[in-house]
Parts: sequence; structure tokens; C-alpha cells
Amino acid sequence: MDTRTPPPQFRVFGKTHLDTLPQLQALDPEHRLHMRAVAEVLPFRVNQYVIENLIDWNNVPNDPVFQLTFPQPGMLDDRDLRTMRDLLARKAPAGQIADMAKRIQAKLNPHPAGQKELNVPRTAEGLPVEGMQHKYRETVLFFPLAGQTCHSYCTYCFRWPQFVGMDDMKFASKQADGLVQYLREHSEVTSVLFTGGDPMVMRTELLEQYIGPILEADLPNIASIRVGTKAPAYWPYRFTHGEDADRFLQLIERVRQSGRDMAVMAHFSVKRELETDVARLAVQRMVNAGATVRCQAPLIRHVNDNADNWRDMWRMQVRLGAIPYYMFVERDTGARGYFEVPLAEAYDIFTSAYSQVTGLARTVRGPSMSCTPGKVMIDGTAQIGDEQVFVLKMLQARDPAWVNKVFFARFDPRATWMDQLRPAFGEPEFFFEQAMRRMQETGHGQVWREEGLRVA
Ligand SMILES: *Cc1c(COP(=O)(O)O)cnc(C)c1O
Repeated sequence: MDTRTPPPQFRVFGKTHLDTLPQLQALDPEHRLHMRAVAEVLPFRVNQYVIENLIDWNNVPNDPVFQLTFPQPGMLDDRDLRTMRDLLARKAPAGQIADMAKRIQAKLNPHPAGQKELNVPRTAEGLPVEGMQHKYRETVLFFPLAGQTCHSYCTYCFRWPQFVGMDDMKFASKQADGLVQYLREHSEVTSVLFTGGDPMVMRTELLEQYIGPILEADLPNIASIRVGTKAPAYWPYRFTHGEDADRFLQLIERVRQSGRDMAVMAHFSVKRELETDVARLAVQRMVNAGATVRCQAPLIRHVNDNADNWRDMWRMQVRLGAIPYYMFVERDTGARGYFEVPLAEAYDIFTSAYSQVTGLARTVRGPSMSCTPGKVMIDGTAQIGDEQVFVLKMLQARDPAWVNKVFFARFDPRATWMDQLRPAFGEPEFFFEQAMRRMQETGHGQVWREEGLRVA
């Protein structure tokens, strides 16, 4: 592969292409109409690399990457699907379609985990820091305003309300000023995690506007810079071809030379994403430049709900010098009913895959739910006395005192999310619930700074 040549021109397809994409012509027209109906409600965007390299068109609609990226009729409930289909079939006015789309979207829990009201981070002067979330003591999440889209959308993601796309250097540096000021004032923060959207949709020059000031400021507390991205799977040329790719590798080196870890938190859902030459090269180049590539993804029905896929992905990741990190449980939002996997089944899939890899791949943790109090891992099931229970563990928590704590819920083979679990042994509530109510009432989420609020 000649990596000095520029990457192929990025071509992207959305809902207006569902009738014209040649690959879809083999599908029944009624099925395509249903796909269009779903695409009015849920985001759809896919690029030619995904279409040409990741989807086996002889296996559509079952192909896992087709399920991961294209709208599927089962994503809406039957009535909503029919209503939207009929509007399209009779060529209803655009305004009417948009109104119906909004109504259906509102039913899909667009803002899960109640993270909005808590923790609007502010500098000491009281200025809100645009695009930041500080939920766990050691790590801040940062959403660069210029990185709020992706190279393709995952069908289960509902972050689309923030997909606005901005490419403004001045705005980037202003946003970075707030970030640096905040990091200076919060010596407890050791890691900055850039997320989105996908920050790797930004040109490296723009990414440097965010990362550069952290390196230039004297911030001895910051030990790692992380970038969460799906680009190694959806657009690996971002890391392999042309000047901008090389410039990103230099940015990795620059972070490393500042004495910090540069972690690329790569989102790999299915093994096919790691099987193309260009994807492997992308990971290898980042590893060679000095990045740690840590891999994570949610477990999704129809996409990766089998142990063999996870086992093979984790093995391939280790081969490439990447590190398996988290298996997540799909969140309680969007087309949840279509994608959800019961926690008990998620645990079995995880355990089956985990048992077939060496300790080098057992850096992975999960299945893990990102919920309001923290990241909760299903650590197992057990019989305690007469009761069948889930053994749960807090991997991350709003209150650092909760981290690594084990607790128990009544076993329920159908439960798919934390809100469906009840405490075991007849307890009225989980250990964190009283403190969570206090945080929600007061709006103070950072207990490590608000010691007075701590509930013993
Ligand atoms: C997962 C997550 C982090 C990072 O947690 P690690 O366990 O350190 O990877 C930070 N903030 C939020 C809100 C998260 O969900």
C-alpha cells in the first residue's frame, strides 16, 4: 500500500440515496420504503468504504455491518413504522413528515442517564466550560464543537441531535481556553477524553487546536490524552494515507514526547472491521507512533450478539498490539427494543468469549452499563441462600468511594438495563440511591469537591 498517495475521496450517503444505491436494488421495494421511513426518524449516514468493504451484500439484510449502519424496519414499533411509511407512500408534504418524525423521536428517550442537569463544569470564575462533562474525578470528557459528526452513523446511536458540524479554528481555540483553565484548577483530573461525534472527523490541524494547548500549558496532573473514535473501523484512511494522516501520527509522537500517554479509544463492533488491510495498517501505524489503542464497543442484537465475534476481535486486537478495554451494554435510548440484549445473555456471551482468550486479552471488562451513578459491570450470577442474584460491580462512580464496590440485584433473565433491576435480599434500594437523590436535588455531582454532601 502506498501511503504517500492521498486517501480516496470521501463519499457519503444518506436517506436521499436509499432509492438509488445500486447495492440496495436487490431488496424488495416495500422493504426499501420501510427503510426510508426509519431514516426519517433515526440518523442514517454511511460512506463508500463501509459499503464496499465491510458489508457482504449477498447476506443482506442479516449482514452485521448492514444492521450496524443502515436503517432497519424493526427499529420503530409497528404503528410508527406504518404511519411514516404511509406518509412517504402518498408523498406527504415535507413539513408533515418532519412533524411526525419529531413526535416519534420524542418517545425514544433521546437524553438517557440524566447527565444534563448535573455537573455543568465551571472555571473558578464561574464561567461554564463549553462542551465538557466531569462525572468521574480523574477523567473529563470533552466534546470539540468541530467534531460532532461521524464518518458513518451507527444505527443504535442517538447522539445525532448534536451532529451539527463546524469547522472553525477560532471557535476551537476559544473552547480550548476554557478546557485548559479548568484542568489547571482541577488537579484531580489526570485524563482528558475527547469524544463526540467522532473527533477524528476533524482535520489534524483542528485537533491540534485542542490538544496543543494542553501540552503547552504547564499541567503536570494530566497523564493521558484520549480520543474516542470509530474512524479506524469506518474510515481507516484517516490514519494511513496522505499528509493529514502523517500529521496525526506526529501529534501522537508529540503527546508521547511530553511524557504522556496518547490513547486512541477505538470503537470496533465486529471482526470484519479489523479484517481489511487498511484497518490493520491504521492500528499498526498508531501503535508504531506510540499510541495505545484501546478497543471498546457495545453488545448489540443483530450486530455482534455472539461470543465468536468477540473472541476473534479480542484476539485480533492483541495481535495488532491493541488492548481490549470495555464491552458495553447498549444504552436505554433510540431503537432500544431492536438492539437490546438481556443482561444475563450479555454476561454469557462475554464469559464464553473471555474464556477462549489468553490473559493478554482479559484486559477487557464488561458487560458494563454506563448509568447515572456510574459504570456498573455484571460480574456474575450466584445463588446466595435461597436467592438467585446478579453480582454487580461499580467500575466507575460519581462518588470515588463507590468504585470497585460489589453489590447484588435479584436475578431477572429478562432485565436489559439497570432501571429494571431490584436490590437482592429484600433491600429497599441500592446503596447509592440515597446519595444520588441528594446530588439530583442539590445539582452538586462532584462529591469529591463537596465533601459535606457525602452520605455515610
Ligand atoms: C467511561 C467514561 C469515562 C472514562 O472512564 P474510564 O473507566 O476511565 O475509561 C469518563 N467519563 C464518562 C462520563 C464515562 O462514561
